[in-house]
Amino acid sequence: MGFDYSGKTVGITGAASIKGIGFAIAKKFLQSHAAVGIFDLDKNALQQAVDALKVFGNVKGYVLDVSKESDVKKVIGAFYEDHKAIDVWINNAGIYPQCPLMDMESSAWDMTMNVNLKSVFLCTKEVFSYMREDGGVILNAASYASLISSAGSGAYAASKSGVYSLTKTLAAELAPYHIRVNGFIPGVIETGMTQEVVAERKDTLVSAIALRELGRPEDVANAAAFLASSEASYLTAAFIEVSGGKLCVQNPDFAWKKMEDMA
Ligand code: NAP
Repeated sequence: MGFDYSGKTVGITGAASIKGIGFAIAKKFLQSHAAVGIFDLDKNALQQAVDALKVFGNVKGYVLDVSKESDVKKVIGAFYEDHKAIDVWINNAGIYPQCPLMDMESSAWDMTMNVNLKSVFLCTKEVFSYMREDGGVILNAASYASLISSAGSGAYAASKSGVYSLTKTLAAELAPYHIRVNGFIPGVIETGMTQEVVAERKDTLVSAIALRELGRPEDVANAAAFLASSEASYLTAAFIEVSGGKLCVQNPDFAWKKMEDMA
């Protein structure tokens, strides 16, 4: 589906990783004619991302640690000053620590909550101050782990369940300001974040997916572009699951096995 975001300004956190979901979202919005700001930790990675994206349109990088309140205020303020509007804001930055809960240091727990969950509160609060007059759309990166945790990454799942809950509450609280708040739920998308787990157990992961293939960052970007668009104007507090039907039933490989048996 083609979208037209001409005249709109879109900010995306965690978008400097060229193989990542945030980068693909930035590309999709640029191809749809938005002016885009990408926000990430590392200045060099941001520059590389901007260099790769600028052929598609008006893009600028902003160094930001989404978990630091003072940075959030300053940097989102600078983004607003550059455009005098923020129409769409996408809380996408995240980390995925792999550690059984009883082995986890409380500092790692705090970092997971701060980067994945508190950041959504901090960034949304700041963006709200610029969106409250004219309305807008906020999208949050939830996860399949928002719905069902995995042993070995419990802190991540708890943070993403928090994102799910926060999205619903924000949707209700910001509705009178004509701000829609929605989210996307990636299943297993091949990015830097999932590189290790995919290398370790690709077959197991794929066997839980009805479509029997891993997702691409572009699949999530297409869902984000739809959720932020006027085509989705009655959607708030909504999530699009971009998972190829991950665990849509307890035995998602049933029909595949049956077909193989018949062959
Ligand atoms: P990714 O490739 O690792 O990208 C995440 C980006 O966020 C990286 O550029 C990372 O920078 C940045 N980041 C980390 N901490 C930050 C901070 N404090 N401030 C600003 N930026 C920060 O991950 P992804 O797979 O694209 O995931 C994007 C989002 O989707 C995440 O929220 C993730 O939890 C969610 N998600 C992904 C999947 C999947 O299958 N890939 C599944 C479910 C949910 P560094 O590289 O410098 O750390």
